Amino acid sequence: MYACCNFRRFLKLLAIDFAVIIFIGAVFLIFKALSGSSANVSDDSEISLPVIMYHSVYGNTPSEYVVTPQQLESDLEWLGSNGFTAVSPQELVRFTQGLDDLPDKPVLITFDDGHYNNLSEALPLLEKYDMQAVVSVVGSYTDLIAPKDPHESAYSYLTWNDISQLIASGRFTLGNHTYDMHSNKGTRKGCSKNEDESEEEYRKTFQEDISTLQSEFNAETGYTPFVFAYPFGYISKESTPVLREEGFLITLTCYERMNHINRDPDCLYGLDRYNRSGLYSTEEFMNKLLTGV
Ligand SMILES: [Zn+2]
Repeated sequence: MYACCNFRRFLKLLAIDFAVIIFIGAVFLIFKALSGSSANVSDDSEISLPVIMYHSVYGNTPSEYVVTPQQLESDLEWLGSNGFTAVSPQELVRFTQGLDDLPDKPVLITFDDGHYNNLSEALPLLEKYDMQAVVSVVGSYTDLIAPKDPHESAYSYLTWNDISQLIASGRFTLGNHTYDMHSNKGTRKGCSKNEDESEEEYRKTFQEDISTLQSEFNAETGYTPFVFAYPFGYISKESTPVLREEGFLITLTCYERMNHINRDPDCLYGLDRYNRSGLYSTEEFMNKLLTGV
């Protein structure tokens, strides 16, 4: 009798527990549905973002910094058929600001240095595979080298007119790769700080360089970049406040690592990238991009 009463009491308590759990669950689901419908964004979990760094696209002799058009097409075809969506920098910013979600399996495709073949060879392929990319140009190449010998896929750089065409295509977001710090002249490596210069001197030099290209962009195309790619991946911590002041929202490095982004806009400073060497097959490179091996 005693055991029987205890058992009934146990069942009663169990029923109450279940009722409480179901009530809490229902409240949670209602809250989630309401918050989801008002903001149209999901929660703030982290998302993996692989970033690919290309340079030149032409010919049939691939190298560390040159892929053939066939290799680029093979990469884009692989990404599409494996469920990846090439996202734009603007989509990344809106995601981190909590304004939008990202598609499943996002990937960011970037091109450095501003080669003319990004227009002649890469753009038609991005259109064919319905993808987006970034081109980060070196101001002095566009100003001084491109006009002398334009429109050769093998070696020319983008002119301002070419850059305007890339912007008008809606496929490319243009980025700043410094005006004239894309070198290892003297003791400076890329746009990093020299050991023997003060922080103030460095900030002034760096700010003058990147703002020169920002102003030219605006004057020549009406567009002002918000993506910055560090030349050769050389980074000084002193560069970040300058880049923020100049309005950059995304900076790109050359460390070969996967990124994990979230709803904090600061996570877009220092996105790591894998160099797409033409010496790998598509499968070899994608395996490295996604697994680090
Ligand atoms: Zn570069």
